Amino acid sequence: MKNANDINALQVEDSRLPKSKSYLKIIGIPYYPHMNSQEKLTSSDVETILKQNHIFDNISLASRPRIIKVSPKSDMAIVWIDIWDVQSGHNAKLLINRCFNVGNNITTVRGANMNPRVPQCKNCWKWGHSTFSCRIQGAKCVKCNSPHKSEHHREFRWCCKANAKINPPRLETKKGEPCPHSFKCSNCKGDHQANSNICPFWRHCFNREWHIKKYAEIRENRSQSICSEVNGATNQ
Ligand SMILES: [Zn+2]
Ligand SMILES: [Zn+2]
Ligand SMILES: [Zn+2]
Ligand SMILES: [Zn+2]
Repeated sequence: MKNANDINALQVEDSRLPKSKSYLKIIGIPYYPHMNSQEKLTSSDVETILKQNHIFDNISLASRPRIIKVSPKSDMAIVWIDIWDVQSGHNAKLLINRCFNVGNNITTVRGANMNPRVPQCKNCWKWGHSTFSCRIQGAKCVKCNSPHKSEHHREFRWCCKANAKINPPRLETKKGEPCPHSFKCSNCKGDHQANSNICPFWRHCFNREWHIKKYAEIRENRSQSICSEVNGATNQ
């Protein structure tokens, strides 16, 4: 076991080494940065932007920048970056509240909480647990939330099967082609795949609190609708 002096020496040493990570976000950055183009901002774009700005001169990224649209209809992005830092967070402190230009936009660096991405299960597509710790038997489809594997959607889902009896008759979805029908997100019930980046759950994938709150709301609504069904039944 080390004596107290050794431990102190170790801590002093550690605080100088770039061993820890700091979490920052950049706001005010355009989601479509290319003139006259609907091309989205990419991690590589952000890396180039950072390289061109001297405030990032001695900064190295700990992972690729992550980009999220501020809201579905917004044309602005929020960019999360993780940087290597010393334990005192010295590098982050130098950057927080600094502004720099991206085209005609003035962007600002803000501190972000250390919020790792909320995991999404690739078995049942719920957020908050990993695929390995999923407790449901079988699998749910990422497209329609029915009990089949996503890759079997075409074979198992009625929407992709031919039906001559309806008007107009429905054709079978061709093999290898994506299901052109509407989807049902198992989380928000929206018309997109459960792992889509337009899903509000995806957009809040770094905000565990939001997820917890949202699932609590969903549970609440579900129990209310069950209660009203029960009440409705007893009133008859
Ligand atoms: Zn699961
Ligand atoms: Zn399906
Ligand atoms: Zn279909
Ligand atoms: Zn959704």
